[in-house]
Amino acid sequence: MTEDCIFCKIVEGKIPSAKLYEDGDCIAFLDISPAVKGHTLVVPKKHHETLLDITEEGLKALMIKVRSIAKSIVDATSAEGFNLLQNNKKIAGQMIPHIHFHIIPRYPGDGQDFSWKHVKYGEGEMEEYKNSIKKRL
Ligand code: AMP
Ligand code: ZN
Repeated sequence: MTEDCIFCKIVEGKIPSAKLYEDGDCIAFLDISPAVKGHTLVVPKKHHETLLDITEEGLKALMIKVRSIAKSIVDATSAEGFNLLQNNKKIAGQMIPHIHFHIIPRYPGDGQDFSWKHVKYGEGEMEEYKNSIKKRL
């Protein structure tokens, strides 16, 4: 439990949530301000800020739950598909600094659009990005 973390407080039952699922490692509940009805958050019980902070073991367990909860959401809502989103740090839109996955069911005419603006690489720049990332893997 980290002081002042809303998701730690939900895990601890100190603030209410529309809880869908809970086990020893994670909790899933409806987003209070959904992008689309049925928008669900899957949150590990242990506090880690981002994807880069959670342990590999924790992440594996979490991803298995994310998939099975996504399947249940699709079944329950008859969604045609879903978006899986995960924001890391404020610059990327992370409002709650406790790692979580968003599962957002998608229906025809749901009014959402997760497309982004596209940018272009300059001459040789794509190669530079490729090499710089690749040598760190
Ligand atoms: P992010 O921007 O990726 O950190 O997403 C945080 C999400 O948490 C937002 O979609 C909020 O609507 C949602 N949220 C914030 N507080 C609560 C809460 N008490 N219960 C359910 N969802 C919440
Ligand atoms: Zn937390």
